Amino acid sequence: MNFDSMMPRDPFADDPNDPASFLEDDASEDVPPLSDEERAHVLEDLRIVRECKNILEPRGMRGIYFLCEDCDIMHYYDWDIMAGNMQASLKGELGPVHEPSAEPDVDAYVPWDYAVGYLDGLEGRR
Ligand SMILES: [Zn+2]
Repeated sequence: MNFDSMMPRDPFADDPNDPASFLEDDASEDVPPLSDEERAHVLEDLRIVRECKNILEPRGMRGIYFLCEDCDIMHYYDWDIMAGNMQASLKGELGPVHEPSAEPDVDAYVPWDYAVGYLDGLEGRR
């Protein structure tokens, strides 16, 4: 999982007080297009997320959580939100990464690696 595909490239892009804005005039430009490799990676993640939604959601797993290094708190994402973010990044847009579900039921979210491992363990896939 490459979380960069879900992350804003520069969280201070719109902050006029960001000292880096004096150094990088291009910081607020559009997201650069994905390379073929990045695109393939996002498409693969998207395929997994859809599989998670079909297979894990009926088992009570609504999405993933991870520690956000920008906010230093856990973020919780429903499968639909993750898929939306990935589709946005494929189109060269940024999803609302720091707007997770309101008051998530934290017990219903698992780490990404757990979700992938769970899928792998079913039916001896892959
Ligand atoms: Zn965050």
